[in-house]
Amino acid sequence: MRIAGFVKTTLQDWEGKNACMILLSGCNFRCPYCNRPDLIDGAGDDIELSSILKYIKENRDFLEAAVISGGEPTINEDLYKLVSDIKKLKVKIKLDTNGSAPDILDDLIGAKLVDKVCINIMAPLDPVPYSKAAGVEVDTELIKKSLKILDGSGVSYEIRTVAVPGLITHDSFGKMLSGLDGSKSMIIQQFDPRVTLDPKMDIKPYPKPVLIRMAETAKGYIERVRIRGF
Ligand code: SF4
Repeated sequence: MRIAGFVKTTLQDWEGKNACMILLSGCNFRCPYCNRPDLIDGAGDDIELSSILKYIKENRDFLEAAVISGGEPTINEDLYKLVSDIKKLKVKIKLDTNGSAPDILDDLIGAKLVDKVCINIMAPLDPVPYSKAAGVEVDTELIKKSLKILDGSGVSYEIRTVAVPGLITHDSFGKMLSGLDGSKSMIIQQFDPRVTLDPKMDIKPYPKPVLIRMAETAKGYIERVRIRGF
């Protein structure tokens, strides 16, 4: 496991919580719109976990939480140990994931090691559009299983969708929502073309009114919907 980044304080990644963020290198997806191409192939810095644990311990007076993100954290064999070590310091933990490893998610939730999950859903839950959005062949049954685990877990979770023109259209967004009916919280994230895995993704993001309309549509399926990135 390579810890490729550490953000000491963020108020953006867990609403209402002062959190630090640990970025793990490596990902099993190759989303063309990925804004962290530096993280997905296992490259990047190699930060010692001990220095992060020390920082959390010394700043427990204002740090309430740690966000584990990436890349895709669940591809790391040492994730369970990493999360356990942080949890021992009595901070809350949020896991960001693409949902492709339901069994690992289940283990972490079952061991009460995560307090919140953000699952990135990038297309209707069918193999063809999903694989196009993820840049690799995706078994969408795994994503559905992750959503089912989260639904039945009692752990707070939110769905994050990046509004990428061409990948998320009015029709595909509607289809995606029908597979998410009953979920509690969604963030619709504005697409950022500045740094992307696929250089061809240098396209114009949707204007804000489009995302507002998407949010209005999503409210028909999901209790709480926010847009982010403006
Ligand atoms: S956006 Fe896609 S490729 Fe990038 S880290 Fe997330 S799941 Fe991996």
